This record gives sequence, C-alpha cells and structure tokens, in this order.
Amino acid sequence: MKTWTKDEIRDLYNQPLMELMFQAAQVHRESFDPLEVQVSTLVSIKTGGCSEDCGYCPQAARYNTGVNAHDLMSLEEVVQKGKDAKASGSSRVCMGASWRNVKEDDDFDQVLEMVSSLNKMDLEVCCTLGMLTENQAKRLADAGLYAYNHNIDTSEEYYKEVISTRGFGDRLETIDNASKAGLTVCSGGILGMGEADEDRIGMLYTLNLMNPRPASVPINALVAVEGTPLEEQHEVSIWEMVRMIATTRIVMPHSYVRLSAGRTQMNDEGQALCFMSGANSIFAGEKLLTTPNPEFNNDMKLFKELGIKPMPAYKKGPKPEIKESYKQRSVDAEKPKWSRPDHKIERNEAAKAKAMAERKGFEPRKVSSVEKI
Ligand code: SF4
Repeated sequence: MKTWTKDEIRDLYNQPLMELMFQAAQVHRESFDPLEVQVSTLVSIKTGGCSEDCGYCPQAARYNTGVNAHDLMSLEEVVQKGKDAKASGSSRVCMGASWRNVKEDDDFDQVLEMVSSLNKMDLEVCCTLGMLTENQAKRLADAGLYAYNHNIDTSEEYYKEVISTRGFGDRLETIDNASKAGLTVCSGGILGMGEADEDRIGMLYTLNLMNPRPASVPINALVAVEGTPLEEQHEVSIWEMVRMIATTRIVMPHSYVRLSAGRTQMNDEGQALCFMSGANSIFAGEKLLTTPNPEFNNDMKLFKELGIKPMPAYKKGPKPEIKESYKQRSVDAEKPKWSRPDHKIERNEAAKAKAMAERKGFEPRKVSSVEKI
C-alpha cells in the first residue's frame, strides 16, 4: 500500500475541488461499494467530569458548559441502547467514557461486560475510553471488542495549542497498544479548531504512517460549545469538509471515512457531496456524546434519496470471539506513565478562569464524578 509523503498529500489537498472529488469518487469505488454507508451509534456511557483540558470538549470539568454529567451507565441500560441501535439499522455501537485513561478497576470490569454483551448481539463494538495499555487493550479484545477509537485530533504541532494535559506521543502509543492487541483502530480529527491547512495535511500524514493504518478515520467539524476555549471559532465550511474527506479517501483508500460531529451544521446537499467524495460512515442518534446530531429519520430519508443502504456488520473482518481471560485484571502487568506536559494554553486558561468566576457567582454546576489522576 502506498505511503504518502507530506508533499504528495499537500499536492492532492490543494487540487481544484472538482478534480479532487472526482479522484476520490474513483478511489472509493475500488475498495468499497459506494452505495453502502456504515451506520454507527455513539453511546456516552460516562459523561462529563473529565480531568483533561481538550479545548474543544464540553466534558472537561474545568470548563463551565452545562453538560449533564453522569457516572458509568448500568449494563442493562447499555444493552437496551444496543437493542435500540440495532433496531434502527446501526451495525456498530461505539461506547465513549470521559476518562483520561483506563484503570484496572470495577468500572473497567463493567465496560468489559458491556463489550461482551453487545458482541453477543452481533454488533460491531467500539470503545473510546482514553489512553490504554497493551494489556488493557488485550482484555478489551478478549471481551469481544472490534475497534478502539483514539483520535489524534490534528497535527502534532497544533496539538500543543489545543491540549496541555496529555502528549501527542501518548496518543500514538495508545493506538499502537490497540493494534498490538489485534483491535482495529479508529482515529481521525477535528476541523475548525483554528488550525491551518498544513495541520490538516500533517494529521493525514501521521495517520498514513501508521502500521496498520486506521480502519476508520472520523472527520469531525468542530461544534463550538459555549464555555469551551474554542467557543468563538467559526463554523467550518462545507467546502473545507469535502476537501478534507476527499483527500482522506485518496490517502487511505481502504479505511472507512466517517462523517462525524458537525453534521447538523450541514444541509442534505452538503452531506451528499461528502458521500460522493468518499465518506462512507456516519454516526446516527440524536446526540454525539454531548453535541446534537441529525435525527435518524432524516438520515434514512437522505439515504433513500441518494440510493444508499446501511452496511451490514463485519463487512471487513470477522466477529471477534469472546475469551474468558478478559475477566482477569492485569494490574501488575504494566505501570503506565502517561505524560502531562502542562504547558499553558492561553485560551484554555481563560475558559477555566471564566468557569471559576461563574461558579463563584452562581450555584456550582453539579458534576457527579471528577477524575482523580
Ligand atoms: S479526554 Fe475526552 S472527555 Fe476528556 S476533555 Fe478530552 S475529549 Fe473530552
């Protein structure tokens, strides 16, 4: 498979849009049925109260965003969400928890039970739980996990302008740990955080160097939430999204390219352009963790209009077998040392100070569990 240089990706990205879209549509047809789109449901199994300072995220406890925080969902609730997702045509369920990293504790044991229950329902199961060690990834794989999501967000250079509480290298290490455990990797990023075109190109360059490449690449448009450091960012234009999706499709022809957050900011015609340019996966459901998402019926109406059908589960790989070893904690196996660069990002500091002032003036927002590191 071709590994692209940064110059080559830049040349692709900077082509006239009509040419880029045409090439992407051709490449799309070589690896996928262009009339099939994967539909995934994202379930926030633990929301808010996060110790990290990701500038785009309303779940960071240090910003005052009004997110309705909740502790880890029960197994029964998650099973019901899985049934609902399946009934409405999703082939994949992605469970997200607002953790800095996975810990060998009762909560993780509960997540493993969720994974195995959803696997038994013939759903592709994905998790996004923060940084994790190889042993933790192995336990997830043994529980029947199919994919692990860990976005690199942007280029290595711009990453430092968005997050100070963890390092880009830790992202890559977690992705590597997931791959080594036999999980497929889902990794992409966010447009509209103030990054330059060169950062978008840099992000694709890093993803294309991964071995194996991410099986799915989510391309998000920032949803600027009040109270976050990026609250004043302008909406990403549909043309920027199409350009990024088409370039991603050509650079990573065998990966699912997922149209993720920000779909409510697009009209049907804009989404259709994204599908024509190689996007072949969406998140369904009324919310994406904490931000709004188009209604399921609207998606199905658009699919019908375009002649698209939802993709069945396990199209690109076998269903993982569940191994009882997932129940054994690996507490002594590794002592992860995740970094905490803690450099100062002006807009993150300002959003934190604003939140503190607001909380002093008003009844503090109730956060049910604040991560302790
Ligand atoms: S680690 Fe995840 S949940 Fe926590 S602030 Fe960052 S993006 Fe949000």
